[in-house]
Amino acid sequence: MLSLFQEVNIAFPWFFTGAFFVLGSVVGSFLNVCIYRIPNGESVVSPGSHCACGKPIPIWLNVPVLAWFFLRGKAACCGRKISLRYPAVELLTAVVFAASWHFLPWDIAVPAMIFSAFAIVLAFIDWDTMYLPDSVNASFVLVGLMCSAAFPPLLGAGNAVEGLFSGIIGLGVGSMTAYWFRYFASLVFRREAMGEGDVILLGGIGAFLGWEGALFSFFFSSFIGLFAVLLARIFSLRKTEPEMKETASADDETDGNASSPFPLGPWLILAAVIYFVVGAKLIAFYFSVLGA
Ligand SMILES: [Zn+2]
Repeated sequence: MLSLFQEVNIAFPWFFTGAFFVLGSVVGSFLNVCIYRIPNGESVVSPGSHCACGKPIPIWLNVPVLAWFFLRGKAACCGRKISLRYPAVELLTAVVFAASWHFLPWDIAVPAMIFSAFAIVLAFIDWDTMYLPDSVNASFVLVGLMCSAAFPPLLGAGNAVEGLFSGIIGLGVGSMTAYWFRYFASLVFRREAMGEGDVILLGGIGAFLGWEGALFSFFFSSFIGLFAVLLARIFSLRKTEPEMKETASADDETDGNASSPFPLGPWLILAAVIYFVVGAKLIAFYFSVLGA
């Protein structure tokens, strides 16, 4: 079994990358369901996929990414506009899965895919609702600890016990950092600077990526957040021009208001992804600059 797998992998190096692209698009389709249903307290399993008009979506019109282009973004049953975000999330998941498989050793690629799936759901829900659901957050922490034990190389550990130990330390450092920041920031600024969900989220990031990953995400997310706020300011300045207002779609009202507070979760997650991809190199670079 394993030798057949290796033979295929050597003979057709793109075979499994392609297979993971397809798998990623199917997983992405499920992540869409999670992103839209979990905040409403709906089941992610039943009923099956259905349109906003209530009609069930047949399986051939539910093919990830392709169906949206085939339907030109309009529901077959009622002609309702289907958000570009559906194929975008599917494509994003597909690319992340394929890239993980292609560029990473398998025992880091697999937890990277699991991490990404949670990251996408949490980031989009937080973006939409300014709220991280406890059920997803708690699963993220639990699955993070399981991955740290099952894939010790993810945390640079030699065996499952060492891996789990690093995961638990990461969970502790991540959640405690966020907890105390939240505590002191609320004393200083007299308003909530970080949500309760972010405390669990940073704990989960630590469970997956260890304490270094948790601290990196904590500090780096503030840079990303600052950059995003600046971009939003520029964007909203442009939006006040009359010709921009005409083309503004209904989606814009959710993210157009630069003065409304930003959710922190997406920036924490983006920082964690950056750490996942280049974290070790970035830290080495930082210390080489300090040493020079
Ligand atoms: Zn419909």
